[in-house]
Amino acid sequence: MAISDIVRTRFAPSPTGYVHVGGLRTALYNYLFAKKHGGKFILRIEDTDQTRLVPGAAENIEKVLEWAGLIPDESPLRGGPFGPYTQSQRLAIYKQYCEQLIAEQKAYYCFSTPEELEEVRKLQLKQGLQPKYNRKWLPESMGGSMPESKIKEALDSGIPKVIRMKIPDGITIKVQDAIRGTVEFDSAVLDDQVLLKADGFPTYHLAVVVDDHLMQITHVIRGEEWLSSTPKHVLLYEFFGWEKPVFAHVPLLLNPDRTKLSKRQGDVAVEDYIKKGFSREALINFVALLGWNPGSGSEQEIFTLEELLERFSLEHIGKSGAIFNLEKLSWIEKEHIRRKSDQELAQAIRPILEEELTRRKPELPIEKITSDEYLTKVAHEMKERVHFIKEFVTFSPYFFFEPETYEKDAVKKRWKENTNALLTELATQLETLPVFTAQEIESALKSFCEAKGIKTGELVHPIRLAVSGVSFGPSLFHMLEILGKEATLRRIKRATERLKGEPLRVES
Ligand code: GLU
Repeated sequence: MAISDIVRTRFAPSPTGYVHVGGLRTALYNYLFAKKHGGKFILRIEDTDQTRLVPGAAENIEKVLEWAGLIPDESPLRGGPFGPYTQSQRLAIYKQYCEQLIAEQKAYYCFSTPEELEEVRKLQLKQGLQPKYNRKWLPESMGGSMPESKIKEALDSGIPKVIRMKIPDGITIKVQDAIRGTVEFDSAVLDDQVLLKADGFPTYHLAVVVDDHLMQITHVIRGEEWLSSTPKHVLLYEFFGWEKPVFAHVPLLLNPDRTKLSKRQGDVAVEDYIKKGFSREALINFVALLGWNPGSGSEQEIFTLEELLERFSLEHIGKSGAIFNLEKLSWIEKEHIRRKSDQELAQAIRPILEEELTRRKPELPIEKITSDEYLTKVAHEMKERVHFIKEFVTFSPYFFFEPETYEKDAVKKRWKENTNALLTELATQLETLPVFTAQEIESALKSFCEAKGIKTGELVHPIRLAVSGVSFGPSLFHMLEILGKEATLRRIKRATERLKGEPLRVES
């Protein structure tokens, strides 16, 4: 059967829990490749290992893909013309193809018990041999030593059995890989792979080949850890007489010490990064660069999904392992924030603020602080200072909520005996300002300080503390302008009341 003439790629995870960052990268590369070529991106759930299933994991995978903006064209939830897209719902299909292989003498029944297999394995290891099935049940008619009558007897008795593919002896299997070129495997290193297990479920190897064929997958882009399985898949394609897809094995993800990326050395679950507040843009950008580069001497490191779509190609995926560097992810996150317009940031801040508003009462009217105008101003003041979008709310909550505490050391250092009196007097002057702009506030403060014979610094710091509760932040005068006259004066008044006398009510 001819393979589809439009590009069809697939992401085929096993629903064993969280989505691994390496999985997100595989999904992304498949998505980019399909979309770049006007093709289809398919999600298939590979749940044939029933012992590793985690309830809800399959749905979670679709949710994560949606979060990342990598929407499959066909999937278990979306359906499609080649469904079902969940392997456990395709058992009859695998059985039928397995029977075909048996009939054509390309596969055989095996009744060896797990205990027997373990014994054989131990013995082979002891002899310094590579552990492999000893072909006890390979029928005489296929070059083995088991008489057909014995096989029939075992079949009739109904004892548990598996089906194994017969790896041809003495051949070299060539895997054509778009990233690695031709990779050759000696058939002597391959085991007679189980295709159908005793529980009637296929193994990954059978299911992946049957499904990639039936779903008309044209390009199989997956992690390097599957390269060693590919010669078995190539043989299965040949057994069935099917056209092979293009294989592309992307490099392993490594810890900075070049060991294989493991859970122990840091978070590998996409869900953890989402919880930490990383944005889809940054995470997608980050995983894209784990193995791929824009090529032609380009130094560009910040990409949107659209830019990746334009630039992506299999030719620029490297062969060597890709180092997973979390500092880089944080840098990318910041760069994406800087690249967004104030208006775009305002849209991103709003849902985070709205969530916070379910827990805290704002000081300013909700309509005001959730307005485009207000959030755009906050975004403008803070975009150089935050590491995550959520920090627009968590790092500078004072734009929305009155300070509950005042930074202890800063109060000690900046709040002098005469501060309360000076601030109270200044407040009455600020109140008379006809326009409450940064410029007007600044010049009012300057002339006030000149008249009092003090440096502006003596009041700039206490005002910041009074209004924000902390000693650092954006330009003070702009902050006051954004907050507005009323909130500014109210906060100054509150601070003078709260910070009057000892002991100070300060952050502990
Ligand atoms: N089910 C395999 C996995 O969990 C898919 C490997 C492949 O893409 O062929 O990663």
